[in-house]
Amino acid sequence: KSGFVAIVGRPNVGKSTLMNHIIGQKIAIMSDKPQTTRNKIHGVYTSETMQIVFLDTPGIHKRQSKLGDYMNNTALNTLGEVEAVLFLVDASEGLGGGDRFIIERLKDLRTPVILVMNKIDRIEPEQLLPLIEEYRKLHHFSEIVPISAKLGNNVSTLLEQIGKYL
Ligand code: GDP
Ligand code: MG
Repeated sequence: KSGFVAIVGRPNVGKSTLMNHIIGQKIAIMSDKPQTTRNKIHGVYTSETMQIVFLDTPGIHKRQSKLGDYMNNTALNTLGEVEAVLFLVDASEGLGGGDRFIIERLKDLRTPVILVMNKIDRIEPEQLLPLIEEYRKLHHFSEIVPISAKLGNNVSTLLEQIGKYL
């Protein structure tokens, strides 16, 4: 199995952390500052059963500038050309305007979207289900996978789920 997977999400949800965890190298630019990842950076994950090319897309975000428009378009074009989209959110912050904005953009896609609820190491387990329900009301996600990109929790499950769409 092989294919392309794009990672999207508002700044600071942990996109670069996740990609670096999976790829095992410091490829993406990691920073607490929003919007430091200006270009698509490809990382390749290879196991015995599958190969995944990850695209760490510039954040899709509300329009602020010409550069912002360029980044939005770059990200959206990418999403139509991949096998699956990972939509990463910060479970410790809840559902915000930035997440809703991205969900609106995902609605026109035919690509499967996997909702990845990151930073579960920062929340109580009982907080997770209500938050999942909130997201499910807004969009039909192909899969929903809670993870901690920082600790690596459940990342192997995420890779298995991605494998279904390759
Ligand atoms: P990006 O802007 O989406 O690429 O986000 P980054 O990967 O740069 O991560 C933003 C911040 O969140 C960094 O300080 C990370 O260390 C932190 N972070 C990422 N994933 C997790 C996680 O699973 N748990 C916790 N506690 N922090 C995380
Ligand atoms: Mg990043």
